[in-house]
Amino acid sequence: MQLSGWGNYPKINTKIHHFSEIEDLQSLLEQNDECIVRGMGRSYGDSSLASHVISTKNFNHILSFDEKSGLICCQAGVSLEEILDIFAPHGWFLPVTPGTKFITVGGAIASDVHGKNHHVHGSFSKHLLKMDVMLGNGKIVSCSPDQKKDLFWATCGGMGLTGVILTATFRLIRMETAYICQETLKARNLEHIMELFETSHDWTYSVAWIDCLSRGKSLGRSLLMRGEHATSAHLRDTPYHSSPLRIPLNHSLNIPFDCPDFLLNRYTIKAFNMLYYQKNTDSSQTSFVNYNQFFYPLDSIYSWNRIYGKRGFLQYQFVLPKAQSETGMKKILEEIAKSGLGSFLAVLKLFGPQEEGFLSFPESGYTLALDFPVVPKVMQLLHKLDYFVLYYGGKLYLTKDARMSSCMFKSSYPHNKKFSHLKQQFDTFQKFQSIQSKRLEI
Ligand SMILES: Cc1cc2nc3c(=O)[nH]c(=O)nc-3n(C[C@H](O)[C@H](O)[C@H](O)COP(=O)(O)OP(=O)(O)OC[C@H]3O[C@@H](n4cnc5c(N)ncnc54)[C@H](O)[C@@H]3O)c2cc1C
Repeated sequence: MQLSGWGNYPKINTKIHHFSEIEDLQSLLEQNDECIVRGMGRSYGDSSLASHVISTKNFNHILSFDEKSGLICCQAGVSLEEILDIFAPHGWFLPVTPGTKFITVGGAIASDVHGKNHHVHGSFSKHLLKMDVMLGNGKIVSCSPDQKKDLFWATCGGMGLTGVILTATFRLIRMETAYICQETLKARNLEHIMELFETSHDWTYSVAWIDCLSRGKSLGRSLLMRGEHATSAHLRDTPYHSSPLRIPLNHSLNIPFDCPDFLLNRYTIKAFNMLYYQKNTDSSQTSFVNYNQFFYPLDSIYSWNRIYGKRGFLQYQFVLPKAQSETGMKKILEEIAKSGLGSFLAVLKLFGPQEEGFLSFPESGYTLALDFPVVPKVMQLLHKLDYFVLYYGGKLYLTKDARMSSCMFKSSYPHNKKFSHLKQQFDTFQKFQSIQSKRLEI
């Protein structure tokens, strides 16, 4: 069958295998020379694509939960949505969550995902106590930050290239209510939004939406959304106070077909960006929103990736070191505005320090994510942006990538040699290979 990542680019012919028992996975590994494991396919590019794909869809049981400590142990195919559906009504939340809950725990570890709280709580792996990994020879190895450390830190962020994550133990966090107290602030330009991020450092969650078509003095004008878990006291005068852990059922809209190419052009995007920015007229607004609204706004349109039509789209996410962030972002935003190939979604976040995870993406600095349709002009633009990302000492996020060159990967991921060395050690027969790992020569 034809398969792709969330960006619908590239699409390849592949065979998908399922398993629900360990023994079945062992025989799958024995039968197939080259394969890659896949969760919910929410990575944008080609990291979960290969001629043989092993899906964890049917390996999805929660194995234990400790009500006192919040420790949960589950199989890797459990989704974040399933965890929230079961535990959020009892006052538990995820320690780190990306912008969609439609991902698996295995995918969260393999991409070492980050959320809006990276500057305070780090990435997913920081909350992971232990995992079991099946190596290419069928052997199961338990690893943790103290035991078989190398396998642990190569697997966190390792894009499925060390083995199949089978089970994971991590800690959920307590929440008093299912609501977030959200403040929205308007920023005039890039300098202003970075100032707002710095002064919001004590807020647990922060994220900004950037209008990347604005130029000149308004270059980088944006909206900052910052948030804290609301307490029962916060909700006293709101309609939510009688059942603070209950939220309305999510009714996702669906886009039933690939939209025609003409729908997205510089004029529609510009109009959308103008409206979005103008809608938030006050310089600051406070509101209570439930966790779905705050963390997963895009999940409310189930297959929004079809907006980009058959040709698909690329998400370009890079991080620049803190010292280079302002100058580098300015240059990159100027290039994008100049090209007129703006993005509907341009999301800016602040990362805190991250020491572990040989291929983990975050590092202290700012990260920007932009969506672009797959057209030749965009490919040329991204090639130019690669140059600036490298020049300012940054790197691209593997889980979003479908086009980076091997040379760029090797110059921007400082631990790539160590990772390749460990991969050879753990995956002796080089069983785990994706279209991405081949392109990047990992
Ligand atoms: C709308 C949207 C918003 C997003 N927001 C963010 C964000 O804010 N922050 C962020 O960090 N990411 C974000 N992402 C990316 C997403 O969180 C990651 O791509 C995540 O890895 C997807 O999980 P998945 O289960 O779909 O994995 P897949 O896409 O199926 O696979 C991703 C990688 O994980 C590997 N993998 C999956 N399961 C296993 C396993 N059991 N063992 C070993 N390897 C495995 C695959 O081989 C592949 O390399 C977003 C994606 C979308 C669509």
